[in-house]
Amino acid sequence: MQTLETTQPPVTAALVDTTIHRRKTRPVRVNDVFIGGGHPVVVQSMINEDTLDVEGSVAAIRRLHEMGCEIVRVTVPSMAHAKALAQIKEKLIKTYRDVPLVADVHHNGLKIALEVAKHVDKVRINPGLYVFEKPKSDRTEYTEAEFAEIGDKIRETLEPLVISLRDQDKAMRIGVNHGSLAERMLFTYGDTPEGMVESALEFIRICESLDFRNLVISLKASRVPVMLAAYRLMVQRMDELGMDYPLHLGVTEAGDGEYGRIKSTAGIATLLAEGIGDTIRVSLTEAPEKEIPVCYSILQALGLRKTMVEYVACPSCGRTLFNLEEVLHKVREATKHLTGLDIAVMGCIVNGPGEMADADYGYVGKQPGYISLYRGREEIKKVPEDQGVAELINLIKADDRWVDP
Ligand code: SF4
Repeated sequence: MQTLETTQPPVTAALVDTTIHRRKTRPVRVNDVFIGGGHPVVVQSMINEDTLDVEGSVAAIRRLHEMGCEIVRVTVPSMAHAKALAQIKEKLIKTYRDVPLVADVHHNGLKIALEVAKHVDKVRINPGLYVFEKPKSDRTEYTEAEFAEIGDKIRETLEPLVISLRDQDKAMRIGVNHGSLAERMLFTYGDTPEGMVESALEFIRICESLDFRNLVISLKASRVPVMLAAYRLMVQRMDELGMDYPLHLGVTEAGDGEYGRIKSTAGIATLLAEGIGDTIRVSLTEAPEKEIPVCYSILQALGLRKTMVEYVACPSCGRTLFNLEEVLHKVREATKHLTGLDIAVMGCIVNGPGEMADADYGYVGKQPGYISLYRGREEIKKVPEDQGVAELINLIKADDRWVDP
């Protein structure tokens, strides 16, 4: 029989754990970058130049890499493109550096994949397209025999690529897309996260049977709830099967502008916060360079990577003692190069100091015309507002935490 609890639960002082516990994965090396294995979440993007344009591609790859994109993807729709990659890689090494490159291989692309595997560090295949069966419009079912027959064809086609990558100690991404599941997966599992996961598992098993485990898995969808469900199910299935492959996160066709960024963040950050994900790409319908700051902002906001100063600022209210937007802008301009610091700009001393969230330094409205500077929770000095930014810099310098921009 159920009894009703009438007393209040005791108030305990137990601290809530605020760290993100990342899922344990195996490290997969892509040139000199590691995905998984406890390494920082890797940022990726993709150039949109035609790979046949060697000069243009080299410049685009370099631009992205200089901005912080750690692995750059290129598309390889034909054998000529695959061969161009040899020149692109060579030119990068000669004129810049050996940037980790991934090549995207398309429909029935074994020959192309084998060629490009010689020139890049990782090959991405899409299980839905790798062995492409033209859908039959009158089909009503897939028999077990038909299912297995295509399975054999996939194995036959995948084997040489797996062996090539294995022997060169290179990596592969098994990149499932919700929008391009193979017909037989659609018949068997429907247009579902289960179909996406089974599609990835089929390819993983082939790789494992050939003793190749340099694998990264992705299960992208353009609908965030589908993408979330697919990655979570993949993790569950991998746990059951004792697999520890790192995951590449992304929301496909997220669009552009503010909504594209929010949609990507909703998918990617939700999983990262659960400890899922080892590398990310934000896909925007904009210049690829625009994707990199979004990736870093997501990682910074979650505390997974620190690539800029973390500013804590109140939204301002009737108590605000100065023009907060203007002051925050000035403080940011003066200190944005001090990566690693947390700086708070708060409108008043009533709530400001308590809400600075353990920032290293605080700039807080004290009384009309005056602000107070804080080091951590300690109030250091009161200064006239017009000297606030200069005095903040002096304080950081006195602490030996300043570097010139
Ligand atoms: S810190 Fe002060 S000024 Fe800022 S929102 Fe809170 S109460 Fe208002």
